[in-house]
Amino acid sequence: MHSEDQSRSRDEFVRMLTRCKNAVAFTGAGISTECGVPDFRSPDSAWRRNKPIPFADFLAREDMRLEAWRRKFAMDDLYADAKPGRGHAALQRLAANGPLSAVITQNIDGLHQQSGIAEDKVIELHGNGTFARCLECGSRHELSTVREEIAGRAAAPRCGCGGIVKSATISFGQAMPKEAMQRARRATLACDLFIAIGSSLVVHPAASFPLIAKQNGAFLIILNGEATPLDDQADLVLRSDIGDFLDPIWRDGVALPSATSASSPQDNKKTTL
Ligand code: NAD
Repeated sequence: MHSEDQSRSRDEFVRMLTRCKNAVAFTGAGISTECGVPDFRSPDSAWRRNKPIPFADFLAREDMRLEAWRRKFAMDDLYADAKPGRGHAALQRLAANGPLSAVITQNIDGLHQQSGIAEDKVIELHGNGTFARCLECGSRHELSTVREEIAGRAAAPRCGCGGIVKSATISFGQAMPKEAMQRARRATLACDLFIAIGSSLVVHPAASFPLIAKQNGAFLIILNGEATPLDDQADLVLRSDIGDFLDPIWRDGVALPSATSASSPQDNKKTTL
């Protein structure tokens, strides 16, 4: 985006923020690329080197479980030092001082929580890859322990209850987390501004939330480096690098809107820049 266009877009973005009463952010892998975590759809993404292991195979076969853990630790090692980026910081501030009531994320990297945002404001649709859970009793297992167990016994870890232990993420073929989906739906229906950031918006059912928000009367902003299938539905499309776009808003000291002083979102008009 040309810098003049970028500044006009930023003004428009801030204007929408200042007029809303309740904003919800919906984030995808694009918010974490500047932190060193590759996204899924970019060419040569490390996430696509292997055909995914379906959940049913993970459940059925020990060799698949060992392979899944091998791949997971190889990916984890690639971005072990990842820290929250400028996009995460912007959302953290907007949640702490502004009208952002929730961050619905498809990401599994835990970087929103690391940014200091209140944990109860983060809704993880695809789980969290920074720890593991027993599929039977749900108890939490630390990845360092899982690694040690696999190295020591060459067997996939089991819980004390006998259940299979799996990274706390949602695999292909695994049911979406019921509670997170319900919370995401509630947050989406309650907001008057929905901001999709860094997602190709092609992974369903997650990508249905921007549409639900829009159909419920919320204003929809899409901030992404490339076109998405929902751009036509958006009131404002921002084609920009996420960190570059969001960072100056806080760095320049633009006054954050507060939920109490917000005026009616109806003052917003459809804008595509
Ligand atoms: P995606 O890879 O499909 O789309 C990411 C989008 O972000 C792309 O359109 C890309 O052009 C854009 N993008 C990348 N860097 C950007 C930047 N700096 N500025 C602006 N735009 C940028 O990601 P998705 O829609 O989240 O779907 C991927 C799936 O894979 C999700 O289900 C997610 O669970 C998983 N995933 C998660 C992570 C993570 O936790 N960080 C990483 C990869 C994949």
